[in-house]
Amino acid sequence: MRNITIVGAGQAGLQLGIGLLNKGYTVRIISNRTGEEIAKGKILSSQSMYDMALNHERELGIAFWDAECPPIEGAHIRAGNAETGPMLDFRSRMSANGQSVDQRIKMPRWMDEFERLGGDLVIGDVDMAELERLVDTSDLVLVATGKGELGKLFERDSARCTFDRPQRAIALTYVHGMVPREDFTALNININPGVGELVHFPALTHTGPCDIINIECVIGGPMDRWDAVKTPADHLAMTKALIAEFFPWEAPRFRDIRLTDDNGILFGRVTPTVRNAIGVLPSGRTVLGLGDVLVLNDPMTGQGSNNASKGASMYLEAIVSHGQAGFDRAWMEALAEQYWDYAQWSARFTNSMLVPPPPHVMQFLGTCCQNGTLAHRFADAFNDPKSLSSWFYDPEATARVIEETALSA
Ligand SMILES: Cc1cc2nc3c(=O)[nH]c(=O)nc-3n(C[C@H](O)[C@H](O)[C@H](O)COP(=O)(O)OP(=O)(O)OC[C@H]3O[C@@H](n4cnc5c(N)ncnc54)[C@H](O)[C@@H]3O)c2cc1C
Repeated sequence: MRNITIVGAGQAGLQLGIGLLNKGYTVRIISNRTGEEIAKGKILSSQSMYDMALNHERELGIAFWDAECPPIEGAHIRAGNAETGPMLDFRSRMSANGQSVDQRIKMPRWMDEFERLGGDLVIGDVDMAELERLVDTSDLVLVATGKGELGKLFERDSARCTFDRPQRAIALTYVHGMVPREDFTALNININPGVGELVHFPALTHTGPCDIINIECVIGGPMDRWDAVKTPADHLAMTKALIAEFFPWEAPRFRDIRLTDDNGILFGRVTPTVRNAIGVLPSGRTVLGLGDVLVLNDPMTGQGSNNASKGASMYLEAIVSHGQAGFDRAWMEALAEQYWDYAQWSARFTNSMLVPPPPHVMQFLGTCCQNGTLAHRFADAFNDPKSLSSWFYDPEATARVIEETALSA
């Protein structure tokens, strides 16, 4: 049977590895951290995932938390500032629920499952020399190392990149004690133009159901004041202070929050980056990238884990349907383009939310406040950002969509 090596045991690597084991492949995954280290470490993400991506996990029998994890039933979008309050405010249920399972729970569990199914899980930090050795002993080597250094093997594709630097300073916090919403559980997105965003939703962590708060601070803006934050308690206090100052309409729900654990905090910046899918080793041989290695988005719209899942599913199908043929460069390029055909829309959706919206998008969002059909369409875009591709970025097409839904309403 064919022999596949995957470097990186995250959403992309483990999901693909388990999928390949199910199909009878011999699979080795190399991870630079043990499951225990991941479980006991800092949070890695806010990992909200939606129906299409979750269904790929369900197909593989690894959606272990469907009963336990609180659902994300809809989306609630508000924009305004402390003086005006929300000037734009709409909400809608999604067609299907999303969920967020702490990767500190999910990845160790999936590592166990990978081994249980017969996979070879190796702990080690792969460098270029090791990658050469892995290529020698595998039919195909995939690199799914996320934001790790090894990703630099894959050249930045400047034509496909919108930014060359981070657009937000990002502060993530896992908490208990939030006041629940009264209507439905939601991906809450609050936009304070020019200042940043407050994004939050329910999730599952080590200590049970929780809420995850992601504060996205415009670089150099009034919320970009995290340098003085040194301790978990400081982090929580800053989170509460920024919400009270810049999103006061949300503040009452956060009054009694406490950290889920001292590792339930993260601060950083992400440069949204698209890379070439094929990495060429010093020997001239090739490896194929996957997940964040290829398309790294700002977490603002929560697309990265969704992309990783959709990409892993696409790669699984491509590898299996290729049968015994060689995994040559042409095959890799065709698969990478197939992935980009989808992933470009997640990048475009995310990048468009990081800059002031053009007038037609403002008009669309404004119309969502009175038009439930449009609000529902926007809420569903977090599941499938490609669903916006034929109209959202084009003023005339957006006007047509607004008109059509007004007529049918
Ligand atoms: C603050 C924040 C919030 C986010 N929120 C969301 C969200 O709500 N929804 C969403 O969909 N996405 C979100 N994301 C993005 C999401 O977490 C990632 O897109 C997703 O985890 C990518 O999966 P991956 O498998 O490509 O990489 P990763 O999950 O990063 O996995 C890579 C793995 O490779 C290992 N590794 C790295 N280098 C090596 C090496 N040299 N040798 C061996 N192993 C190595 C790493 O330790 C890691 O375990 C968020 C990201 C951040 C930073």
